[in-house]
Amino acid sequence: MNPTESKRIQQAFKELIDYDELMNCTRCGFCLPSCPTYAHTNDEVHSPRGRIALMKGVIDGFSEPDDNLKRALDMCLGCRGCEPACPSGVQFGKLLEQSREAIYQNKKESIFVRQTKKFIFRRLFPNKLRLIHATSLIGLYQRTSIRKIAYKTKAIRLLPSSLREMEKALPVMPTKKEMLKRPTHVKTKEKPKARVAFFSGCLMDTVFMKTNDATLKLLQYAGCEVTIPQNQNCCGALHGHSGQMQQAKELAKQNIIAFEKLNVDYIITNAGGCGAYLYDYMHLFKDDYEWKERAAKFSSQIKDVTSILYELKFHQGHLALPPQMITYQDSCHLRNGQQTYEEPRKLLQAIEGVQYVEMPQANSCCGSAGIYNIIEHDMSMKILEAKMENVKRTGAKTVVTSNPGCLLQMNMGIKREGLENELRTVHIVDLLIEAYEYAHRRKKAIDSQT
Ligand code: SF4
Ligand code: SF4
Repeated sequence: MNPTESKRIQQAFKELIDYDELMNCTRCGFCLPSCPTYAHTNDEVHSPRGRIALMKGVIDGFSEPDDNLKRALDMCLGCRGCEPACPSGVQFGKLLEQSREAIYQNKKESIFVRQTKKFIFRRLFPNKLRLIHATSLIGLYQRTSIRKIAYKTKAIRLLPSSLREMEKALPVMPTKKEMLKRPTHVKTKEKPKARVAFFSGCLMDTVFMKTNDATLKLLQYAGCEVTIPQNQNCCGALHGHSGQMQQAKELAKQNIIAFEKLNVDYIITNAGGCGAYLYDYMHLFKDDYEWKERAAKFSSQIKDVTSILYELKFHQGHLALPPQMITYQDSCHLRNGQQTYEEPRKLLQAIEGVQYVEMPQANSCCGSAGIYNIIEHDMSMKILEAKMENVKRTGAKTVVTSNPGCLLQMNMGIKREGLENELRTVHIVDLLIEAYEYAHRRKKAIDSQT
């Protein structure tokens, strides 16, 4: 880093980072055991306390914003596992976002990196049609002989190992026709128990479209009338976590506008990462006179699908599966951001025929963390290996998750260990719909015999 760049970053640290929040850290160290990067490095620099000390050092002028600082912040998963462990209530996730914004908005990057970021953050994620085209291209690659040829000719090896592993873990993509024809409203046969809106997301409504379909069915079966506004956009989490705060705010404003005129009880999400970011819109605009109240109202309506299903007692008497052992991996942001961790467990425990086993350290990050498993592949895989040991300890044959990133990461873990024939991973919504349909098929069969 040259001196001018270093000065600019130092100034940005002073302007963007909440110094009072930094001062809340008493350096007690209670957060250290909950930090996966500290567990794998045993290095204070890669712990929450160490990262906070580095941020404070830059603002106080004791240290330079050098490459070591950038490395420490890049290596952080942003999992917020340190937050519930902190007796002083330090909101580490916000400090991380503020410091990343200070660095990435002021650090010189090569034209290639700038253009790639511009494409991903501005052109791809906020544009549903482009995402549909990109997804259908991957689908074409999966469905035709291109994939076989890539493996046969070993051309696949041209990809970096992180992308090669990701490629194997991807679900089968929906077709372009399916992605273009999405529902806008789902009615109930009887008087609805709740009126909700659904945040369909960007990747969830393309790559994971089938899970979105299952979510809508579950909400309908539970008695919800659902509206799916078509002018909603990506939640902005990827942008916010990568220091692209301006774009994150633009997306947040589009979403607030898309949902604020709907007369609904809740805005339902089915991806822990998106849900936590939508819930954080109130913090994103806390100093913005015009948007503050609108954002607060929006955030107050956010609810994970597992919470509403549990609230509406959907689990009582509706769910069954053939005998099997299952376990659950928390989505960090659903747990640490939205404090939702009991509801998914209670829903799973209510499935008749299922033996639920709690996984050791289920609340600890799996190493997915957005695109962390691509850009910090080595650390991500170390964390995943430890996670897979805990999965195996449970003896479960199904690992349930509640976030698409965790789902891909767990699938990657299963493939790396060669356990495809004995272990599967599913989104909780997909397991619940499986259990609902199984229970109903069974009831129909019994009724037809009597
Ligand atoms: S967010 Fe996660 S990786 Fe980062 S300091 Fe906190 S616990 Fe560690
Ligand atoms: S637990 Fe909280 S107060 Fe203690 S060192 Fe960690 S961040 Fe600081």
